[in-house]
Amino acid sequence: MGMRVTFKCAGCGYTALVSGGPDGGMIAGTTTIACADCQELRDIPVEIWNSDEEQPVIQCPVSVEHSWRQWQFPDNCPKCDAMMERDEAGEWVRWD
Ligand SMILES: [Zn+2]
Ligand SMILES: [Zn+2]
Repeated sequence: MGMRVTFKCAGCGYTALVSGGPDGGMIAGTTTIACADCQELRDIPVEIWNSDEEQPVIQCPVSVEHSWRQWQFPDNCPKCDAMMERDEAGEWVRWD
């Protein structure tokens, strides 16, 4: 089962609802990336189970030109580089 959690930056107030690292649901595996161009955290699909289709390429969904890195909590804010915190009062979402 996959889970999304709210992460919050104490430095600039940025929040993101992402898995916070490699995750897996019933139909696909995802991972969290920090895109340096968008300055956003994003969950992106990395693997689709039980599929003969081509597996997704890891990239920023906005553009292949964007540079990104794998993001795994605890890690830094993509906007201001301060350490992000898990927001215990924030939203927790099961996505499958
Ligand atoms: Zn920040
Ligand atoms: Zn991007």
